[in-house]
Amino acid sequence: MKLKIDFHVHTNASRDAISSIKEIILYAKRMGLDGIAITDHDVMIDPIIAEKLSEESNLIIIPGIELSTEIGHLIFLEGDLIIIPHPLDFLSHGIGSENVKELRKLNPAIEVKNGSTLPIFNKMAERLAIKLGLNMIGGSDAHIDFMVGSAYTIVYTENKSLEAIIRAIKMGKSYAVGGFNHLYLKYIIKKSLIKLNRCFL
Ligand SMILES: [Zn+2]
Ligand SMILES: [Zn+2]
Repeated sequence: MKLKIDFHVHTNASRDAISSIKEIILYAKRMGLDGIAITDHDVMIDPIIAEKLSEESNLIIIPGIELSTEIGHLIFLEGDLIIIPHPLDFLSHGIGSENVKELRKLNPAIEVKNGSTLPIFNKMAERLAIKLGLNMIGGSDAHIDFMVGSAYTIVYTENKSLEAIIRAIKMGKSYAVGGFNHLYLKYIIKKSLIKLNRCFL
């Protein structure tokens, strides 16, 4: 079966993100996604809560975390998959091509379509992935509900289980869709307004 999954989504558990998990789920459903990975900065959603929300909404919810490491941002998903997000975006803590080469032996997936990074960085990431023969995925890197699904991954999997999805990615049975979305600017403005508001309270 063919699933449409956004592998890079932040909720307001991330310092710099705005929408609640419930708002994120609603929007993901509206966008026709089959699943999302919740990848908050340095904190992971409780897998039991994720499972409960998944059952209620009939949306696949994969617990994950975007860790700020010494070399830059790395995503770890439950089910044992490493995703290298926005690898060549030095403005967003991408780990850079040398580190990507180093991590190659761990069979990571590389994010070649990110909804919140400039098109040039996505293009460069895609070129690197092809050169190194890495499995490619896409994710919105949404920090607000309306960005969810701006980039996503099509996965050809045997079934909807996490094991099958991760296996399919590791076997290269996926491709990335979408890319930088102009709504990102709307998020930046909204975030700034919230910050300003806090200053004056
Ligand atoms: Zn990041
Ligand atoms: Zn992120």
